[in-house]
Amino acid sequence: MKRRKSLNLEKIILCIVLLVLVGVIIYIIVNNNTSQENLKEEQSASSKPEIEDITAPEITLNGNSNLVIALGSEYTDLGAKATDNIDGDISNKIEVQGDVDTQTEGEYTVKYTVKDSSENASEIERKVTVRKPLKNGLPVLMYHFFYDENVGTGPDNNYIEIKDFEEQMKYLQEENFYFPTWEEVEQYIDGKIELPSKSVVLTFDDGDPSFYDLAVPIIQKYNAQATSFVISAWYGYRAAENQPNIDYESHSDDMHQAGANGKGVMLSWSEDKIKEDLETSKNTLGGSTIFCYPFGQYNDRAINILKECGFKLAFTTKGGRVYKGSNKYELPRVRMSKTTTLREFKNMVN
Ligand SMILES: [Zn+2]
Repeated sequence: MKRRKSLNLEKIILCIVLLVLVGVIIYIIVNNNTSQENLKEEQSASSKPEIEDITAPEITLNGNSNLVIALGSEYTDLGAKATDNIDGDISNKIEVQGDVDTQTEGEYTVKYTVKDSSENASEIERKVTVRKPLKNGLPVLMYHFFYDENVGTGPDNNYIEIKDFEEQMKYLQEENFYFPTWEEVEQYIDGKIELPSKSVVLTFDDGDPSFYDLAVPIIQKYNAQATSFVISAWYGYRAAENQPNIDYESHSDDMHQAGANGKGVMLSWSEDKIKEDLETSKNTLGGSTIFCYPFGQYNDRAINILKECGFKLAFTTKGGRVYKGSNKYELPRVRMSKTTTLREFKNMVN
């Protein structure tokens, strides 16, 4: 009997020990799980949330997308810029493919590609045309006003019907005419560079509303480049629109008026007054280095004042083309008029 009692006691003690052990194991497991969960939560709170980048970088060209250069001249790649929504500026990751042989006439394609850190890719191309150099001088065309025959008639020969103008711009685009920058024109006159054949410069005097309303949309439609010589006291407010494809240069602020002797006031006003007028014009246009003489009238004093005020080129209304070595302050132009036919236009620019 005694032995049986002690056996029962042993069983009870064993059960208690087992129960305690199971309890300890359960406690450890549960506690361990929660602490791991806590750790996970802490980790995810401290690190950045993962966002999937599916937006490709934006890539844009520096300089002209349709560049034309003269045979034998130097080609300098102006490169491109790339920005990504996540990576920021990644211009240094742009890869450039395609060579331009400036010793061989033809059309070349330069391709720029870039990838962001999530492998989203973008590309852009530049067309480079190598052409024989300009032979017979650079035509700088001089336009003034425009009209639409459905609405009215042009009062004089300086008014050009807008459909005639559209035909001219369409022709320039079809023939891939090149519109050199003023910097290039200056270098050409200085004999530092050759311009390609089929180069042309378009200028529009006064900054008249008919130019902005009728001609500017056509210039943009055919991707031509134009310079508006603005009389800033009259039409400076239109120049503030800062339209694409249009360069705004000075036609004086308020010197487009006759003085006491019947000639333009640039010939009679005091030097100080002329300088003040030129500065006002520059300020209104946000800067200007190219000038167009009011009524085409100028003298030695006017030329010297322009030089002092930082103007690099000045245009008259004399007829002719611009050549290497032309006088930079007495530049001629080719006058466009209401009666100019498309055939005459082609002769003027070729
Ligand atoms: Zn004028």
